Amino acid sequence: DEHTTTFKRVLLKISGEALMGDQGYGLHPPTVERIAREVQSVQEMGVEICMVIGGGNIFRGLAGSAQGMERTTADYMGMLATVMNALAMQSALEGLGVYTRVISAIRMDEVAEPYIRRRAVRHLEKKRVCIFAAGTGNPYFTTDTAATLRANEMACEAIFKGTKVDGVYDKDPMQHPDAVRYDEVSYDDCLAKHLKVMDASAIALARDNNLPIIVFSLDEPGGFRGILAGKGTYTKVHG
Ligand code: UDP
Repeated sequence: DEHTTTFKRVLLKISGEALMGDQGYGLHPPTVERIAREVQSVQEMGVEICMVIGGGNIFRGLAGSAQGMERTTADYMGMLATVMNALAMQSALEGLGVYTRVISAIRMDEVAEPYIRRRAVRHLEKKRVCIFAAGTGNPYFTTDTAATLRANEMACEAIFKGTKVDGVYDKDPMQHPDAVRYDEVSYDDCLAKHLKVMDASAIALARDNNLPIIVFSLDEPGGFRGILAGKGTYTKVHG
């Protein structure tokens, strides 16, 4: 198989918006299924997969607070939005025959497992895809930070951040045709140049634990599998 990989355990981070397709809001089941197939094809390589999905397609705490809501309440609403996205992804993966667990940072036992680190590790060892929901469980954080936290706790070798573009650019490539993509960039440069990779707390947490972040395009069919096999274009953020 030309698609072999050296990775054993990874975390895939996607934004909630990746699940809304061409709609301006919410979930687009065919898009969820398309991403589920990308995950399935990586699982078939024998890679253990963690997932963190954002909630921005449904609700963001900052948006709520800008409209007068109390910030922490708005953040909890954002965390609940990530649970809905996680359930949608679980449904799509199970439809493909991929075993999954949704593991929530906020207890809701009828809906998802509570987060217990050793138990989550065991699921990964049994090749179940672990979808970590409700972010970190704390307001004032983001799902990027949750992804970095869980990737560290689960001893993932890297975070794969699936986006609309194939890496990190010096300026927004959607608006500037002359934007240049970095093959590699350091954590410190990401922070100093305010590059749009992840928020600063997430990058600092990755840096402090030497966890590489690989930014790639999720719009490219077979892209996730290809990147794991070292093919295609991407940006690697590391020390
Ligand atoms: N959130 C939070 N704590 C966390 C993770 C998320 O309070 O640990 C809230 C926050 O309000 C955020 C929302 O959940 O705006 C959705 O997450 P995020 O913005 O990271 O989603 P994405 O932009 O990746 O879709």
